[in-house]
Amino acid sequence: MTKNAAFVFSNELLSYRFSKEHPFNQFRLTLTLDLLKELGAIHNEDIIPPRIASDEELHLIHDPSYVSAVKKASQGNLPADIAENYGLGTEDTPIFPGMHEASAYLVGGTLTAVDSVMTGKSKHALHLGGGLHHGFRGKASGFCVYNDSSVAIKYLQEKYHARVLYIDTDAHHGDGVQWSFYDDETVCTFSIHETGRYLFPGTGNVNEWGNGKGYGYSFNIPVDAFTEDDSWLDCYRTGIKEIAAYFKPDVILTQNGADSHYYDPLTHLSATINIYREIPKLAHELAHQYCNGKWIAVGGGGYDIWRVVPRAWSLIWLEMMDFPYQTGKLPEAWVNKWQEKAPIPIANTWEDPENMYKPIPRKPEITEKNAKTVERILHFIQQQSSTQK
Ligand SMILES: [Zn+2]
Ligand SMILES: [Zn+2]
Repeated sequence: MTKNAAFVFSNELLSYRFSKEHPFNQFRLTLTLDLLKELGAIHNEDIIPPRIASDEELHLIHDPSYVSAVKKASQGNLPADIAENYGLGTEDTPIFPGMHEASAYLVGGTLTAVDSVMTGKSKHALHLGGGLHHGFRGKASGFCVYNDSSVAIKYLQEKYHARVLYIDTDAHHGDGVQWSFYDDETVCTFSIHETGRYLFPGTGNVNEWGNGKGYGYSFNIPVDAFTEDDSWLDCYRTGIKEIAAYFKPDVILTQNGADSHYYDPLTHLSATINIYREIPKLAHELAHQYCNGKWIAVGGGGYDIWRVVPRAWSLIWLEMMDFPYQTGKLPEAWVNKWQEKAPIPIANTWEDPENMYKPIPRKPEITEKNAKTVERILHFIQQQSSTQK
């Protein structure tokens, strides 16, 4: 019997840790899984362990020379000047012992999720250890060593001959995945993110439409800094509905970075937890509408691990399981257990506090600007569709 969803997890995923102080902290996974357990929304039989990706699988995207550099760095044998050429040993992406294995597990976890869905073991699958969307063919970047989503998409093409729609709602542009498939018409990438004008990685402009045969299969909605829920959701809904109808995917892969929230320390958007209810809801609907349910979701950014990420990521699983709508207090046992370890007051309700931030004076301008960006996408799709006829 096909289950609703599989949750990919084992403690190996937690070994992806650059340093004690580094903002990318996979302890988020433990907090999320524990919240789901306290809710009674997940059981041991729902959890499947990730496998480690083989070199052959990593080579689907990554240059063999890069993979061997990561292996050397992993064992402490890579000279600093060579490391630099591969984006390793930087402030963002430092070298740590065992980094090859830790990174290969994150890729393997996404492949495990793919296999679960494509072989019909589960309709949906969630791998919160994945979502490392800045990884490049031959270079580490922005906390990402290997790009699990890019490898998984290549794997979906080669093993299952699927047309893949990639939806990236991280606050940063999904550059690594976009460039991997920029000239490929069988993969459609969509990224909605804070404009790259002031934020890493600086790309993700609306006019990045793809190249060659892939022209018309790359979409970006860069929203303004301080964008709030209504405008963000308007852009996301309108954009992705049109794109899904235009591309008609066989399978949907979503990257669910949780760093667009007002509390996130690395970005400048003003979204609340409400967008994290709506993001998986619409992805879920589209997966049933176009893909017979086939939906794989991965994690991504998210740097407020005590107040934002566990709630945001739990909501993806609850959506996959058709679990009842949650409101009010979070389970007391969860709050009490983790408050002891947290340096700040942790979230204790599903809702964000009222008046979390002061009114944004530029709201009307921001809303109008974002709406214009979406119009450009709709106009482009209309043009593409009419030339294809
Ligand atoms: Zn991010
Ligand atoms: Zn479903």
